[in-house]
Amino acid sequence: MRQKMVQEQIINRGITDENVIDAMLTVPRHYFVPQIHKSKAYYDCPLPIGYNQTISQPYIVAFMTEKLKLSPDDKVLEIGTGSGYQAAILSQIVDSVFTIEIINQLATISHQKLKTAGYANIYCKAGDGYNGWPEHAPFNAIIVTAAPDQVPQPLLDQLAEGGRLIIPVGPTHDIQHLKIYKKERGKIKQKNLLTVRFVPFMRNSDL
Ligand code: SAH
Repeated sequence: MRQKMVQEQIINRGITDENVIDAMLTVPRHYFVPQIHKSKAYYDCPLPIGYNQTISQPYIVAFMTEKLKLSPDDKVLEIGTGSGYQAAILSQIVDSVFTIEIINQLATISHQKLKTAGYANIYCKAGDGYNGWPEHAPFNAIIVTAAPDQVPQPLLDQLAEGGRLIIPVGPTHDIQHLKIYKKERGKIKQKNLLTVRFVPFMRNSDL
């Protein structure tokens, strides 16, 4: 089912980065999907992971990962660990992945799963990712998998020279734009990629 998913949903839709394709072929998506939805793990859609959150559609995971133009030496920050699936995909491609999840229970479940499965280059933290992870900054790439109204400035500040940030931006129940930011000689350039719908980016006061 995973091979079929990669062929039909990833390769046939134009993803060409070999590292992304290999990661999607390798990581067992069903392991990160809750028991009641496991039979649907390779479907062409997001799925509920509890606490009103979702694991993103496979194509969106591949698309966002490819747009980050990752190399093996990169250090990556993810905001919104959720199921842990996106972190696992990143960990196959880069040197190290730092991931933050604001919902404590989801953080506990995904951290345990990643540890049990032996993903040794993923570092997890429970908390609000708005301020990034200054102790490990700068990052070559940052991926945000929940949508804020505005891009958090601390995340732009924590991009390394040449670093890329991919993030959905926009109101909760309206059109959001998937945006990519790049830091070049200290300056930030930005491009809109797609219209998307992500779960809201929360702050501790929303919980
Ligand atoms: N990347 C995840 C997608 C999970 S959905 C996966 O592969 O499964 C987005 C996640 O972002 C949710 O779990 C939500 O709780 C989390 N989130 C929302 N706002 C956040 C914030 N400020 N800091 C960290 N995580 C946040």
